Amino acid sequence: MRYKNVFHINANPGHGRKSGPDQQDWLDFQDQATLQQGESSVIGGPIRVHTYQEVEIQKAIGWFTSYLTSERACHYPNGRQLPDRWREMLDGYFEPALLDQVRVVELTDRRLANPWFYPCAREKGLRNLPDMTHKAAVTFLDVVVFNNGKISSRDLFHGLVHAAQVDVMGLTEFSELFVRGFLRARSYFLAPLKAHAFGLDAKFAANPGVRFSVEGAVREWWRDGRYGMVKGISDDTVLDAS
Ligand SMILES: [Zn+2]
Repeated sequence: MRYKNVFHINANPGHGRKSGPDQQDWLDFQDQATLQQGESSVIGGPIRVHTYQEVEIQKAIGWFTSYLTSERACHYPNGRQLPDRWREMLDGYFEPALLDQVRVVELTDRRLANPWFYPCAREKGLRNLPDMTHKAAVTFLDVVVFNNGKISSRDLFHGLVHAAQVDVMGLTEFSELFVRGFLRARSYFLAPLKAHAFGLDAKFAANPGVRFSVEGAVREWWRDGRYGMVKGISDDTVLDAS
């Protein structure tokens, strides 16, 4: 089954996307990086402003999208539907259609590798890239891959929040908000899509059996712009305290 949102274009007008990321694009991305001297901060010291050009950001979004899509295609055939006991536990938090769609994979003889673009991203100056090798679970659209061969309820819940985010907004916008959120926060964990998933899995763990609609929570954050906005460079300036 082809993932239903791979080619989803969200309803917002005016956000045309380009496709076709490749290695050469990534090299261009490095070449075009700019490091500017910014205005002085109010507390006196100069701050360095690392600005990513919009064209660079769009390329990074393309690579991230391509990574999610290819990993999803790779793992989906090895996935299985949610076992009954997990399905029952998650019922009421997630839409039945999503619970039917999601697949889980338990890796036992190997661990996930880091994305092919990490070395380039580090050269580009990006820090705090998450180490896939040591993550308990990683979600590729509607496939949650468990690195240590063992499913925990909280990790599964967290992964399904990401699946719900993709389901609500579509892969195109999810990727864009994720990359922009990461660049702006300078932290994988503080990127809003990620932070929301942590908040919801904490709520789930703190109140066992008290069900709430994850899709409702995701739609609310999305509608209120709490995941960030799909737009240009002015919001993607990254401040480096020096
Ligand atoms: Zn996450």
